Amino acid sequence: MLSSSDRPGAYRGRFDRVIIFDLDDTLYLERDYVLSGLQAVGLWARAILGLDGLGRVMRERFEAGHRTRIFDDSLRDMGLEPHPHLIARMLTAYRQHRPSIRLAPDAEQFLARRDPATGFAVITDGFLDAQRRKIRALALYQRGVHLGVCTDRWGRECWKPNPRAFQHIEHIFGRSGGALTYVADNPSKDFTAPRAMGWDTVQIARPNRIHDRIHPDRVDADRIIETLEEF
Ligand SMILES: [Mg+2]
Repeated sequence: MLSSSDRPGAYRGRFDRVIIFDLDDTLYLERDYVLSGLQAVGLWARAILGLDGLGRVMRERFEAGHRTRIFDDSLRDMGLEPHPHLIARMLTAYRQHRPSIRLAPDAEQFLARRDPATGFAVITDGFLDAQRRKIRALALYQRGVHLGVCTDRWGRECWKPNPRAFQHIEHIFGRSGGALTYVADNPSKDFTAPRAMGWDTVQIARPNRIHDRIHPDRVDADRIIETLEEF
């Protein structure tokens, strides 16, 4: 679900400035989502396939540092063939599970102490269904976030670094350039569009984040912090 005021100019003139957050590894730790999803797939496999222990095997692979082919390789570990049909059903169980995740403590405090003259929004990439479930699980609208924008609503081509979601925020809030700050974790894609549009940008480098391979065309933020207490 999107916020109820997802219309151009809905918040026009209401806020002096707007802080826009990325979601994964910015407001909460993505590893918690992955572990929650693997557990859900494990429970699904037990209930539907009568297969015990898959959740544990996948979790161990993830905690050992594996980041790709966890489903395929874990099935093979258990002597099963990773048929595409089975992998597709596991992916559905993963993306449609109800995530057990929590805001990072500093993010929770930051929103609790928010300034009423500041607007708050989220821009997040990822599969639409999964990202909406994360926003709901973190109760972001109840915590003062005015608008959540999942880039996947416009299709894969509008994921970051595409500027579409950033332009959408400017239209909704009627603000541009330095009145807007984007806080996110990934220099490979997060800061390209907002920097080109003159926004203020902040990279948050949480110690327990999932490390992505950094793209050679990385665009760094204006400044870097480790928690929102430094913001
Ligand atoms: Mg992120």
